[in-house]
Amino acid sequence: MIGLDISTAICLYLGIALAALLGYWLRFERGRSFEKYELSPKEVWTCGICAYTYVDSLHETLSQCPQCHSWNRKSEPADT
Ligand SMILES: [Zn+2]
Repeated sequence: MIGLDISTAICLYLGIALAALLGYWLRFERGRSFEKYELSPKEVWTCGICAYTYVDSLHETLSQCPQCHSWNRKSEPADT
């Protein structure tokens, strides 16, 4: 049988465990990819009451302001 003292055995155990964790982490990170989210001007709302600017991507014509809870109608974007 191979003679090992306790400190060498602990170092081997920790090294193997950390190498396995690193391998799983790298494998998980390689498979992950984030889609780039682009904000369209249709999703940006400005409240007519409190002038709060917020994002609502669920509604197209009417949206409720999250700050003052008033309803806002989408207006045509002004040309600059
Ligand atoms: Zn508001």
